[in-house]
Amino acid sequence: MKEGVNPKNPEDNFLVPLYQKFPIKIVKGAGALIYDDIGREYIDLSGGYGVAIVGHANKSVADAVSDQAHKLITCHGSLYNDARESYLELLSRHLTGDLSRVYFSNSGAEANEAAIKFARKASGRKKLVAFSGSYHGKTLGALSTTWNQKYRKPFEPLIEGVQFVPFGNSEKAIEAIDAETAAVIVEPIQGESGIHISPPGFLQSLREATSKHNALLIFDEVQSGFGRTGKLWACQNWDVSPDIMTASKGIAGGIPFAFTAVTESISDVMKAGEHTSTFGGNPVACAAAKAALEFILSGGLLNNARERGEYFMRRLNQLKTYHPRTVREVRGLGLMLAAELKIPVKDIIIKGFDHNLVLLYAGLNVLRFLPPLVITREQIDLVVDRLGAIIGQVESAAPQAASSTPGLTGGG
Ligand SMILES: *Cc1c(COP(=O)(O)O)cnc(C)c1O
Repeated sequence: MKEGVNPKNPEDNFLVPLYQKFPIKIVKGAGALIYDDIGREYIDLSGGYGVAIVGHANKSVADAVSDQAHKLITCHGSLYNDARESYLELLSRHLTGDLSRVYFSNSGAEANEAAIKFARKASGRKKLVAFSGSYHGKTLGALSTTWNQKYRKPFEPLIEGVQFVPFGNSEKAIEAIDAETAAVIVEPIQGESGIHISPPGFLQSLREATSKHNALLIFDEVQSGFGRTGKLWACQNWDVSPDIMTASKGIAGGIPFAFTAVTESISDVMKAGEHTSTFGGNPVACAAAKAALEFILSGGLLNNARERGEYFMRRLNQLKTYHPRTVREVRGLGLMLAAELKIPVKDIIIKGFDHNLVLLYAGLNVLRFLPPLVITREQIDLVVDRLGAIIGQVESAAPQAASSTPGLTGGG
């Protein structure tokens, strides 16, 4: 969207042009709101692509970051550290199933990179099963399990042995999982490709098929984790636990951080030095993550995700009733929602800025909603009212056919 951006913005002059840019400059945030450099207030439905789970500039996280930064900003994983220990103590009580050891890194892709390496080492096998519509990040290993050709093609060859199966198809997945399979990697709810929820029985069948063949099951909860769906981990909605789970995005109130959680038997095969990260387990990140997790658990955020998610979904369905020509489907769980439109969402997103909304897309025609879990009902009402106004404008401007603006590109 180059035409909308101030061409003199230093970001455009100096950054490699890899991000789809929108013409606003954000300078601060509070809860579900963000503010630009001319003081305009926006409701943030993007939440930094799902990062701002505890709200922007969350006070508990900001205080924890500040306190820790004044004490110690860096401590390599080869030395013990009190902030890391204290976060591990809390996190270990909230992992699911048999997960009992974690490896710390700094982003979702890195967490998945580690998951793939751990799975190869622990299983002694190379084959991976992933799914259509999957998004696991853009580093070469993670990218190899990411489905979208647009992200893959320019960088081939990627790592070999990845087989893609239609998401949600248990039969095809069971067929693909065999004695050569190292692991199956899956998002319990696919985010980037437009909020697709695992159908009933799907994750369970992956669990059974992987166990049967001594293959590992990896859940990528980078987007769905930390309360987004109303449970701490999305997989808990289906009562299925993985052998490896990755989390990042909302983990530390916006500070870069991630973990790869594994069972004890997987942990036991890894040797010192085989996989490390200079920043992984950084004390400031650990302090932020501890404050964020405490806030999620004691601040009622799981309940918020459930109740306000249901309310938001109901209001979006009303929008669909009023605008059947534009809204095809509303779906999601908790505050991980989507409205699939019959038109490209680009125009709607651009108009959103004029209506004080920061919207997020997922592909050509899906609006994705990943607001902070502190968003209020009143804010949700405002969002739906403003969306209704925007859609009304678009419909009256194009009384016959849908517009054919080209789509957006990004990922996350
Ligand atoms: C965002 C995302 C990633 C990649 O995370 P980065 O921090 O951008 O590397 C991986 N998996 C899922 C499910 C994601 O939503």
